[in-house]
This record gives sequence, C-alpha cells and structure tokens, in this order.
Amino acid sequence: MGLLSLGTPLTWHEAKQHNNLVRSNGIEQLINIHRQSAARTHDKFYWGDEVEYMLVRFDAALSRATLSIDEDEILNVLHDAHPECVAHNISFHPEYGRYMLEATPARPYDGRALADYLYVEQNMAYRRSVSRAHLPRDVVPLTITAFPRMGLAGFTSPPHEPNGVASQSLFLPDEIINRHVRFPTLTANIRARRGSKVAINLPIFRDTRTDMRDALIPATPRGLFTHDSEPYQGAALPGHVYMDSMGFGMGCSCLQITVQAQDINEARYLYDSLANFAPVLLSATAASPIFKGYLVAQDVRWNVISGAVDDRTPYERGVAPLAEHKLFGGLDVDEARTDKHAPHARDGKDIQRIPKSRYDSISNYLSDEHTTGYYKPEYNDVAAPINAGVYAKLQANGFDAALANHFAHLFIRDPLVLFSERVSNSDNAVDNDHFENLQSTNWQTLRFKPPAPFVEGQTAADPETPGWRVEFRPMEIQVTDFENAAYSVIIPLFARAILKYKPNYYLPLSQVDANMVTAHGVNSVLEGKFYARKHTGLDVSDFAGFDLGWFDRKISQLQSHTAPVATEKDEYNLANGVAVATGDDSVVEVSVNDVINGTATQPGLVHMVTKIIASTYPDASVEQLEQLQAYLKLVSYRASGKLPTFAKYARDFVVAHPAYEADSRVSEQVNYDLCVRVAQVTAYEEVGLFGKELGAYLMKHRR
Ligand code: ADP
Ligand code: MG
Ligand code: MG
Ligand code: MG
Ligand code: MG
Ligand code: MG
Repeated sequence: MGLLSLGTPLTWHEAKQHNNLVRSNGIEQLINIHRQSAARTHDKFYWGDEVEYMLVRFDAALSRATLSIDEDEILNVLHDAHPECVAHNISFHPEYGRYMLEATPARPYDGRALADYLYVEQNMAYRRSVSRAHLPRDVVPLTITAFPRMGLAGFTSPPHEPNGVASQSLFLPDEIINRHVRFPTLTANIRARRGSKVAINLPIFRDTRTDMRDALIPATPRGLFTHDSEPYQGAALPGHVYMDSMGFGMGCSCLQITVQAQDINEARYLYDSLANFAPVLLSATAASPIFKGYLVAQDVRWNVISGAVDDRTPYERGVAPLAEHKLFGGLDVDEARTDKHAPHARDGKDIQRIPKSRYDSISNYLSDEHTTGYYKPEYNDVAAPINAGVYAKLQANGFDAALANHFAHLFIRDPLVLFSERVSNSDNAVDNDHFENLQSTNWQTLRFKPPAPFVEGQTAADPETPGWRVEFRPMEIQVTDFENAAYSVIIPLFARAILKYKPNYYLPLSQVDANMVTAHGVNSVLEGKFYARKHTGLDVSDFAGFDLGWFDRKISQLQSHTAPVATEKDEYNLANGVAVATGDDSVVEVSVNDVINGTATQPGLVHMVTKIIASTYPDASVEQLEQLQAYLKLVSYRASGKLPTFAKYARDFVVAHPAYEADSRVSEQVNYDLCVRVAQVTAYEEVGLFGKELGAYLMKHRR
C-alpha cells in the first residue's frame, strides 16, 4: 500500500493548499532518484507477489458468512520480526479493509533460480497457515476477489450500521475501513475532492425473475448526509447495482507481481510489452461475478475499483462546465497543466478534462525510439494530459520526453492524504515520501517503480536495494495457493521470455483500452475478441514443440533414460539490443486462448514460458517438471475453456443452488454455502474446480 506515515492527516480543504508543495517536492525527489540510479545496471532478476486475503467468519448455526472486522490486531502481532514470519520468509501488510490482510514474501524471489519458482506456493501456504493459527477457529483467511454480500445488512461481524462520516455510504459502515487514519482520510478526501460520493454502476445480470431495480437503495432519501440524495439525482443508473463508496473497490482482493529489470531501459521495454497482457490476464483470471448480493453482467472487479477511487471533479470528468470546477475541491488555477492531445486553453485557464480515474489502465508507453526500435509515437494514442510544469522540470533534469511524460501524467493528480508533519519537513536528497504520495495513488494496470533514493556519499546503490521494477497489477485473486502460484510464476517467466526473445507487442493504447472493456464481459475468457499485434517478430517455428506435451516428453525421457528429446536447444543469440524491427502494424482480433495457447502464426504465452524453462533448467527433475506443468496446465485450460474461471464456477454455483430464486440475488444462505465451498476448495477438500486431471494432481500432492 505504499507508505503508512504516522501523524495528523489534513482534511481535503486543509491539504489542498499544499498540493503544489507535495508535487514539487515529489518531483525533486524523483529527480534525485533518477540522477542517482538512471545508470544503475546489472540488477538481479528479483521478483515477488502480493496476495490479499479477506477474513471470513463462519457461523454454521445461523448459516452466515460475514467479513470479520474485529481481528485486525493480527497485523500488530504478525509484524516482520515475528519469529514465524522470519522463519517462513513472509511479511504481512495492512490493506484498505479492516477485514483484509496482504501478504508477500519478506525477501523477493530470485527469478533465475528454479527452486524459487517451485517454492512460491509453499511460501503462500505459510502465509495462510501462519495467519490462520493467529485467528479464532471460526475466522478463515480466504482469497476471494469480491465478498458476495458486501454492502448488505449485517455483512460484517460484528455488524454495524452504515452511517459513518468518512464514506457516508448508504451501504458500507466506516467500521470496515482500516483503523489507520490514512484510510478513512483517503475515503473522505476522495469524496471531498470529487464533490460527491463515488458512483459505481454495474449492470445487473438478468435472470427470469429479476427485478432490474437495485433493491438496496432506500425508497426515500435517508436524510443523514447531504450526499444521501445522490442516487435519486442520477448517480444510480436503472438496471444497475449502485455502489457509493471506496470500500466496494479497495475492499476487493487481487494478485500483483513485481519484477525487477536489470536496468531502466529493460524495465521500460518490459512495461510496454506487458501492457496488452493486462486485459488478457484480467479476463483469464476473472473471479468476481457478484457484487452487493447481485449476480452482475460482468466477471471482474477492475471497473469497480476504478470507480471507487475516482476523485475527479465534474469538470475533469467532462460532465460539468468549467464554472463548476471551483465549487468542488479541484485544483487551483496556479497549476500549470496542458493536454498535448486536446489543448483546452480555456480562457487561459490551466485546469483540464481528465479522461480516466487515477485507478485505470496505463495511458502512456514508457519507451521511446531510442530505448527500443519498436516504439512509434502513434502507439500513444489516448488522451493523457500532463502537468506541463512537471514535464518541463523533468526535461531540464535529464529525463527524456517519454519518461518525463509518464511522470508528468501521474502528477496531474492531487495528493489524497497529507500528514501535517510532512508538509514542510522533507529532505529531498534522501526522502521519497512526496514522490510516493502521488506514485502510489496512481493505481494503473502497470506500475513503473523506481529505486529508492540512497544516502549521499555512497557512490552506488546497494545491489540488494530495489532497482527499476515493473509491477503487473490486473489479475484477480484466485481461491487456492496452487492457482495464485501458477498465475504468479508465469509472469516472471514470461517476462524473461520477453527479455530474451524480444517480441514486438506494441499496439495503439486505444486498442489496449478497448481490450480492457472486453475483459469485463461475462465469460470474456472464451467469448472476448481482443486486439493484438499481428506481427511480433517471433517465428512460430522456433517455438514448435514447446507446449504442454514438451513436459510429458521430457518426463518420460527422464523416466526411461532414453535419448534426450531435442527440444531444449536454444539458438538465440540475445545480446542486448534491438531485434528485427517489424514494421507491419497490422492488428488482428484474437481470443484469450490464442494469446495463451498460441496460433498457427504466433507462439502463445505457454510456448514462451515453456521454452524458457526448457532452455534454462535442463536438469529439472520429474517432480519439478510436473509442478511447472501443472501451473501451465491450469493457465492453459482456463484459457481454452477446458476449465472454468472462478467467475463462471461461482455464477454456476449460485444459479444451481436450490435456494436461488432466479432473481439474480445472492441470499445469506447461498452466500454462506458459496463461502463454505470456497473454504473447501482452499483446503483442496473439494477439487471440482480443477477438473479430473488437475483435481487428481492436487488430491495427490496438496492434501
Ligand atoms: P507495493 O504494495 O508497493 O506494490 P509490496 O511491498 O507490497 O509493494 O510488494 C512488492 C513485491 O515486490 C513483494 O512481493 C516483494 O517481495 C517484491 N520485491 C521486493 N523487492 C524486490 C526487488 N528488488 N525486485 C523485485 N521485487 C521485489
Ligand atoms: Mg495491496
Ligand atoms: Mg503491497
Ligand atoms: Mg508496500
Ligand atoms: Mg457506525
Ligand atoms: Mg502492489
């Protein structure tokens, strides 16, 4: 979650006058980091995952499953120096919800070491067992993306009325919010800046007996806060589930992967190359078909979180004239901002429309023509307003245009939380707090993470401190450690394949954005058509045979001691540099299956990863190969439809439940039974989600 400074948070109106101070200090800090680390090189290929948990309380007598908001003391107990955390290399972090935990490896994995890939799942299992052991028996840490009945009466334990001043939600009590003052302040300040509560509307999935009105909106305004009237004034759309608070989004769980590149240019190429895999892997990991007790007509969480932290003023969102901007919390006119795509120059005013929420897909590629021969300016074809003052300052301090543009875009945002103690108190030569304030509240599909600053006098950063990293953020959390390990390890392995085989995956970002929309659809994993580059420069014949069958052949070769299968030969000579440019920018429409399992003309992610495994780990044992193959099978089978996503599994579970009334509603009983099922799947007591083949594998190896 970035940093959790202690201190006195300022309200939005107090903090507002310091916005420029935070931005200008943040930029000074970034300039310092860049000056120190731009030439940093030969960093190790470290990586790590982040898994988010919900603490679910089971009451068997009442058939109720609730979010436990009274067990957050566990985070004070399981601090990094706790012997069990040290012993198992695990680290727990606070998250937005008081019912949430985040856990990561304490030290990152070595992405060159086969043993580390095979150990990820064990590390995840420790996080679960250690936290579980510090919770009461009836509270279980589950990895579900969205709690099905969040926002309905009594969905927490203990129960609370939704009447809190921070969120002012009609549905979510403030007691779900992390007790650390940063989180209610974030919640309140987003609302204050926006000038209204956030409004998230998801289409209700229509069944035969569905009443298409959100039954949870009170028939008449509550009359507790002025914002209570908003759903009757257009904030709630007909036919949609209406959600009005940050918690609906930031209270979701997800799976994030951070990989470290050897230098800044490699990180920039990796970031760009992964951009179009964000929508594809969002679709492939779909796990959230239920919100606020309704089956919805989409399968993923992304737009819920995007809407949940959308702090743009009505003017910035494009729904109100400029005059209304100043009524709300928006930027003062001393801000220098321009929009290079649509210069507004409105009466010489420097505020501007902002097309996306601060939680959204990326709007700029990071590379330029000098850092990769693939990049073309026309790929950056979505409106990405910048803070012109920041841009000029970065350019004057050694940032190239693309890099300056990236950060100048992030810095159109205002800081959301500012602690009074930090206002005039930073040493920009050693701190990064003001930079991180904005960096870590720009929640995009990918995050480009610069190194931390190091103390003056040192000549170079300690190689064990983080270098230039890329975080891959779109994926939904999966129920089991097996699945989360699978979707985790494929990312660094795929990243290695990208760095080694150097595909050209550039696509205009407008098409990547269209893919994000596609990824939301029900069953988009099978039905969605995604834009992709036709010519990537990869020769499909180089990857022939590097499919799931490669593992079988390799395993039987090891078992029968026959002649080696001639597949691990690696003819690539991949000195750093630019591969053959593919000038043809044709775009095709492909399925998730095409991307993951390949086509007649393009190797799939599975091929790329398998070839990396084959060429890097020729001595892998049968057991190790089986484990890697099981991960790839899961990813492959989900993409081909041989196995369902959790979104499909949960939707089918609800619809088939005897207590379901064909009204798209998820009752207390159905919610309880679904959560019980999730707990069983988590423990591999129930493996139907994985089909016969992987089910048998899990029964044999994980129970
Ligand atoms: P954030 O919430 O800001 O994304 P976290 O600290 O929660 O950051 O998670 C970052 C992930 O990156 C963890 O899995 C961590 O182990 C991993 N990590 C730590 N150091 C490095 C590094 N040098 N290179 C790559 N990954 C790293
Ligand atoms: Mg998190
Ligand atoms: Mg984190
Ligand atoms: Mg952190
Ligand atoms: Mg209350
Ligand atoms: Mg993260």
